[in-house]
Amino acid sequence: MRRKLAAGNWKMNGSRASLDMLETLAAAHRVSTCDIVICPPHPLLFPAAKICGSGPVQVGAQDCHTAAKGAHTGDTAAGLIAETGARYVIVGHSERREAHGESDAQVRAKAEAAIAAGLTAIVCIGESLEQREAGEALGVIKAQLAGSVPDGSTGATLVVAYEPIWAIGTGKIPTLEQIAEVHASLRAELVGRFGDTGKGIRLLYGGSVKPENAAGIFAIADVDGALVGGASLKAEDFSPIIAALDAS
Ligand code: PEP
Repeated sequence: MRRKLAAGNWKMNGSRASLDMLETLAAAHRVSTCDIVICPPHPLLFPAAKICGSGPVQVGAQDCHTAAKGAHTGDTAAGLIAETGARYVIVGHSERREAHGESDAQVRAKAEAAIAAGLTAIVCIGESLEQREAGEALGVIKAQLAGSVPDGSTGATLVVAYEPIWAIGTGKIPTLEQIAEVHASLRAELVGRFGDTGKGIRLLYGGSVKPENAAGIFAIADVDGALVGGASLKAEDFSPIIAALDAS
């Protein structure tokens, strides 16, 4: 059984004051059957983890470096992220792939560093609009999966987030059939590579998930939760998404 996961990516948003929403979420979802994770900017990881304690909300980071330490000004090692109390780290988000030129090989190395530090890596993959319109989506996604996911991954160390780039922050989402096709294909790839272990790796959908569309997305086979950007910033938006996942 895969435990469902609602992960919020705050990107470069939020402040010390916005961490209040963690207490609101924890109070509202004390008996949730899902894992709930908030990924704030790095300076907020430690206070966020302190607020969350051993409650139902966990903390994740949005990126890590491939190296354990060294001359990498401005970067953060996965081990230090783990020291803050964070349990997850997003790697390979399309905004980092685009703005920082991250390749599949780098994303894979980051995921390996995260796993070595005891974190669960949330590896993001997804096609551009041009690739979708050219009928290349499945091929692109499979290649990203093969290139970005470390050998030896398990359900404890890896989560895969399918995030079509054109759906992120745009209010547009693929059809439910398109999401179903991609997730079925990802599951087949994971099982092909990892055998039965691949059945335990969670697959998230990400891209303009909102309270209004969450239930429909969560009803799709092999959608084990969501990676949520804008709608994770306020408890009043994220909470109904968690509730929809709980009910799915
Ligand atoms: C994201 O940043 O991963 C994301 C899915 O953003 P949004 O939900 O705002 O589209």
